[in-house]
Amino acid sequence: MLSNSLIELDRAHLVHPVASWQGHEARGVRLLQSAKGATVTDAEGRELIDGFAGLWCVNAGYGHESIVEAAAEQMRRLPYATGYFDLGAEAPIRLAAALAERAPGDLNHIYFALGGSDSVDSTIRFVRYYWHAKGQPGRDQFISVAQGYHGSTTMGAGLTALPSFHTGFGVPYEWQHKISSHYSYRNPVGDDPEAITAASVAELKAKIEEIGPERVAAFYVEPIQGSGGVLVPPPGWVKAMRQTCRDYGVLFVADEVITGFGRTGPLFACEDEGIVPDLMTTAKGLTSGYVPMGAVFMADHVYETIAEGAGAAAVGHGFTYSAHPVSAAVALEVLRLYEDGGLLENGRKMGARLMAGLQGLADHPLVGDVRGRGMLAAIEMVTDKAKKTPVPAELNAATRLFDRAWEQGLVIRAFANGIFGYAPPLCCTEAEIDAIVERTRKVLDLTLDDPEIR
Ligand code: PMP
Repeated sequence: MLSNSLIELDRAHLVHPVASWQGHEARGVRLLQSAKGATVTDAEGRELIDGFAGLWCVNAGYGHESIVEAAAEQMRRLPYATGYFDLGAEAPIRLAAALAERAPGDLNHIYFALGGSDSVDSTIRFVRYYWHAKGQPGRDQFISVAQGYHGSTTMGAGLTALPSFHTGFGVPYEWQHKISSHYSYRNPVGDDPEAITAASVAELKAKIEEIGPERVAAFYVEPIQGSGGVLVPPPGWVKAMRQTCRDYGVLFVADEVITGFGRTGPLFACEDEGIVPDLMTTAKGLTSGYVPMGAVFMADHVYETIAEGAGAAAVGHGFTYSAHPVSAAVALEVLRLYEDGGLLENGRKMGARLMAGLQGLADHPLVGDVRGRGMLAAIEMVTDKAKKTPVPAELNAATRLFDRAWEQGLVIRAFANGIFGYAPPLCCTEAEIDAIVERTRKVLDLTLDDPEIR
């Protein structure tokens, strides 16, 4: 069988990202062969609802011919043009203008990267350059939030605050600091939103004071923490953190790699919060995963300071594939589908349905917490509701729950500690959203009967 030989070739040669290399050798790859809308088909021809949109990225859904056409047309006409020096092509220029027009506030300057990690990495370089240009090179300390994820490059992985991205890699660096997460379900100050926000503001201020306000360059935050377990901050939390940064003159960087492009309802989650960051990173939904691309948004003052600081010299940062015309052509078509194609609007409706459906599981004996916004949600499983006892890590719950959901025809993100993550495509129908909820209920019921996980 073709799939058997592929599984062997994979085992022998393909190194998988963010996987246990040994565990993967033992289990072998799960092959997908095709997809349409919100449905993926595996190598055996089984259809599953993709409740996670690939890796929180296929926001538009699979199989849009118009996206394929946009890429093909660009490839035929001009498959590549460098953005280096003064060169360029039409699609990236049109895309930059379209994004600037839609971005919050004065985030008018767009630098294109290849994905989320190198977008974050680019912001670290731009932030450093900015403070040099301002004559304050001593501002070289960075703060991010525990449970945060900011990618997997060497510098970005240090802003990330998840242990598996640090152990064995020699990060974080001494200039990368963390404050606690707002994680409402398990916050030492309790679950009162105002108390959580006040505690986070106090901790950020204390951290800035401890480092020395004249040394802090930037603070990084996800509007909703994704890879940390879909942790939604209390209303007003992001705004309060933004204000604290403003008070200290610290740059505020919003990492919207997951939350951007309709995931939480509006085009950008910063709109939910009513804030304008100094820099903003996006990727994933920008091209809906059809081709790689990321975008860094810079406020006017950031761009102008760097431009002035460099003067006639080149700002020495860029990739061969920055502002790739094929990716830009795809992103322009994806943006059209979000807006004129009604996907943002559908996503908002389906997001409300998903949240209501998942809330309906809250009384299940294994469900400790249900949280989310728009088409980004999670349920947190516990073995004892009253005590909020997490699923023990040694049970390898992620693999088991993922497999169990797969058997029910549902793809979810299963986190190690029994958290199920959801980020379905915005094109989902009501029936698909209802099936996601019902299949989740089935997984929970089966797990209830599993003596080990209890
Ligand atoms: N930032 C955030 C908030 C992310 O969720 C991710 C990816 N999940 C990244 C950065 C890195 O993006 P990429 O995997 O495209 O490099």
